[in-house]
Amino acid sequence: MQGSLPGCLLMSLSAKKSSASLLRRTATALSQWVDSDFCPDGAENMRNEPDRVDWVRVMPFVFLHAGCLGVIWVGASPFAVWSAVALYFIRMFAVTGVHHRYFSHKTYSTSRFGQFLLALFAGTTVQRGSLWWAYHHRHHHQHSDGPEDAHSPHVHGFWWSHIGWITSRRNFPTDYSKIKDLAKFPELVWLNRFDLVVPILFASAIFGLGQTLAHFAPGLGTNGWQMLVWGFFVSTTVLFHGTGCINSMAHLMGRRRFKTSDDSRNSAILAFITLGEGWHNNHHRFQSSTRNGFYWWEIDPTYYGLKLLSLTGFIHGLKPVPQSVLEEGAHADHHASVAAAQKSALAHPQYSTLRRVMPTAAAIAVATATASPAVMLQKKSDAAVHKDVSELAHELKAREIKNPPVI
Ligand SMILES: [Zn+2]
Ligand SMILES: [Zn+2]
Repeated sequence: MQGSLPGCLLMSLSAKKSSASLLRRTATALSQWVDSDFCPDGAENMRNEPDRVDWVRVMPFVFLHAGCLGVIWVGASPFAVWSAVALYFIRMFAVTGVHHRYFSHKTYSTSRFGQFLLALFAGTTVQRGSLWWAYHHRHHHQHSDGPEDAHSPHVHGFWWSHIGWITSRRNFPTDYSKIKDLAKFPELVWLNRFDLVVPILFASAIFGLGQTLAHFAPGLGTNGWQMLVWGFFVSTTVLFHGTGCINSMAHLMGRRRFKTSDDSRNSAILAFITLGEGWHNNHHRFQSSTRNGFYWWEIDPTYYGLKLLSLTGFIHGLKPVPQSVLEEGAHADHHASVAAAQKSALAHPQYSTLRRVMPTAAAIAVATATASPAVMLQKKSDAAVHKDVSELAHELKAREIKNPPVI
């Protein structure tokens, strides 16, 4: 009994310590809703923690998904639904053209004010700040499909690479030391730190637009709540999953033109969903180019949009794909088609045999055509037989009439 007292005391102290730690952890997560850079234990320590979902921290993300259920109460109107579709594609352009091709890879240039406007635009995508996005994406390129890659489907599985990794505590802090070219702009760091400000303003603007339309254009059959649900919650949730497809599926689905050290792939389907990001193997081969679709048949709407934007002078210095990379790709395509033809000949030998016997088949066809009089003769002879039988039947009938049978 005497020996168990210190044990109980120890257990009680340990319980108190763990509940204090839980409280501290919860308070930290709640504070991070407002200030993403709030890390009382140090960002480096947080990054070194094992992967674990931080449920308190991800509540806004859960709320975003739950908001889609609002369609049950607000209903739908063509205007609200089409607004959701338009806002998906407009903001997908912000994800690919701004978060990715500007902040992550600097594939074109703009002024400092232009850069700030781009960051505001990208903030409406609700995918945290541009600096957080750029840091994690550069990290992905550095460690693609290796153990350090935060969202490799080959290392962590499909669901973790699609959605799980952004809920993990260790992936919340931005490592500013790895993005010094961006971290030197305090206005960008401020937007990154308070990354809920732009989404809240954006959602409020959509709600305001809906209320205004309900008042001035009641024929559209929409209102603030309906526009908020469709234009913000539904559109943003689908946008998140469209973007997530690149992390999860662009390393699983499609064709590998370039033999990169990772398992990135090119997929036309993913390129359609993500306005050109589906040419992911191309991108892993050469990241500095503004275009991901390297050839004219690889549709890349983000590049076309950026090209148009460059005509206004708002952006400039779009970086091309080097000729050497284009030639490397053309050679790879040629070898791939030769290999595919050989593989097909091996897999379906009957087709190649058919090709060999085709001249013989043609000769048989010619021979049949020349033999047609014989066939006609045969037909004539058949007709004569039928005629003879018919005549015989008539003769028998005539005989029966002349000499009826005795019953
Ligand atoms: Zn990748
Ligand atoms: Zn990239």
